[in-house]
Amino acid sequence: MERYSRQIALPFVGKDGQAKLGASKVTVVGCGALGTVSAELLVRAGVGSVQIVDRDIVELSNLQRQLLYTERDAAERLPKALALAAHLKAINSAVEVQPVVADFGGNKAVALLSGSTVVVDATDNYVTRFTINDACLELKLPWVYGGASGSRGMMATFREEGACFRCLFSELPALGAGDSCELEGVLASATTIVAALQVAEVMKLIIAPNAMHGCVLEFDVWKGSFHTIPLERDDRCPACKGGQRLFLADDGLSQTSFVCGRNSVLVRSGPSEVNLGALAGLLAAKGLEVKQTKYSLRVEVKEREIIVFADGRALINGTNDAHEALRVYQAVLGV
Ligand SMILES: [Zn+2]
Repeated sequence: MERYSRQIALPFVGKDGQAKLGASKVTVVGCGALGTVSAELLVRAGVGSVQIVDRDIVELSNLQRQLLYTERDAAERLPKALALAAHLKAINSAVEVQPVVADFGGNKAVALLSGSTVVVDATDNYVTRFTINDACLELKLPWVYGGASGSRGMMATFREEGACFRCLFSELPALGAGDSCELEGVLASATTIVAALQVAEVMKLIIAPNAMHGCVLEFDVWKGSFHTIPLERDDRCPACKGGQRLFLADDGLSQTSFVCGRNSVLVRSGPSEVNLGALAGLLAAKGLEVKQTKYSLRVEVKEREIIVFADGRALINGTNDAHEALRVYQAVLGV
């Protein structure tokens, strides 16, 4: 208890609150900038069990904002979930840390989140967030959304009795319309603040649900602005009102990728119709050189070539790795 003495001293935590944290299991989906920070804070706070899910490996470009990872993790190309689990166990050996190296999507989502007390969204794409939303509605679990891009951040909590994520964002953004940290950059201060806010929400959900503010928090650390927007349930919401669970299907809107030859992967994720002209404009505005034909659109990002077709499929050239292709697709097209 000495370890948690400064936390137990808080009147709204106390010994009872600490015991509730110790009896809880939190799943963090994503071990990037948000996930590394939230998992560390949860483990330091004494949450009994922390499950961390990620399919990627540690890279040098992660170290600017993904706390806990080291140059050695990147040199050894360790899976993020395993590298993070090792650091977390060194910080607090009393916490049960469960790393899962896997894609989070489709019909696996419910099984992965089952048994959690709260879920933390630490992903960087809308398809995964829509999947978390569907799975949490199905399991009646609360979850905390977080996102950051540039110097901006956003955070909100969704519970059974209130609005869900699709009350806030009814549909997936058009391809290319979402934020892309890969193209536009992101400040570590922004991601770290989002994760810290998410963990405060998790603690309230576990210890004092009545203390929830029920708003969307938005800020810009560069401008110094911080504000809240009321979060209200949409009576026409297809997910929480209509019972739709599109993102839990094995096919349909879940993410798929196929290795289709030498150094080339076909990816399908999200929207099934793309306005190529609009997408060309969005990508050009992000500084990419776009070549467009009647049926496709072509951009190059680092060593990867991306060809997007009007039906939403994309061919990623320059890799044989389906996970890497999906990562590039999401990072550049922002869904
Ligand atoms: Zn809803």
